[in-house]
Amino acid sequence: MRIHPLTTGSVRLKRAFLFPSSGPRRQLDLFLPGPWSDPVPIHCWAVEHEGRLLLIDTGETSAVRNVPFARFDVAHEQELPGALAAAGLSVEDVSEVVLTHHHGDHVDGMVHVRAPVRINEGEARFLANAFPRVMRRVLGQPLPPGFAPEPFTLDGGPFGAFARSRALTDDGRIVAVDTPGHTPGHISVICIDDSGRHVMLAGDATDTLEQLHARRADAIGPDPKAHVATLETILAHCAGHPTVYLPSHDPESVSRLAGSMTVS
Ligand SMILES: [Zn+2]
Ligand SMILES: [Zn+2]
Repeated sequence: MRIHPLTTGSVRLKRAFLFPSSGPRRQLDLFLPGPWSDPVPIHCWAVEHEGRLLLIDTGETSAVRNVPFARFDVAHEQELPGALAAAGLSVEDVSEVVLTHHHGDHVDGMVHVRAPVRINEGEARFLANAFPRVMRRVLGQPLPPGFAPEPFTLDGGPFGAFARSRALTDDGRIVAVDTPGHTPGHISVICIDDSGRHVMLAGDATDTLEQLHARRADAIGPDPKAHVATLETILAHCAGHPTVYLPSHDPESVSRLAGSMTVS
């Protein structure tokens, strides 16, 4: 198995996004003036396994528009085809795409892919709700044209500390697990690498490893308590299995993958 980090540009996030206050200001602060982070990466992941190429998320495109809490920097050459080429791969070789959740910086690159795209059915149901639909319109963040990923259910029973899962390969070495919080149907993908470590492609389960250790809910998830419960589950999983934890926007994710650095 080979896991390639792909980088489709970067984004600066408002500090209130990364370090939200609690209570009603948690979401309000996102829309008020405030300090910004340094640029953080927009990663997605390509996994070569048994002659197939699986993409976890598809990254952002240069057509993205800024929102009150995120300022994007994505050049055309950094979109999925260029990011794959930088890893010695081609968009033509992609066998399948699995999305962690429906946000633009994870799904917009879909416009480049002809392979089947799949999403957790809980996320598919959520993104059709009124609130996310209104937010997409307010923020000027439409779903990509023709966005119709095929839903799958997490009906594979428990995996490690996670109550719900689904194997994405016949040999069970690539598994989707339930990580609700950032969005209600958010999943992460765990790849059991050749040395038995669990490489966790965590999407936006947290923005950083620090946020996981701090057990801090983010600013945009609709249910902070559910989010914190997921962070406890991830930490319990890391305690039971050597786990390399790789959020999509953590500046340390690439070096943790390269060094097989597990959460301790
Ligand atoms: Zn997100
Ligand atoms: Zn994201």
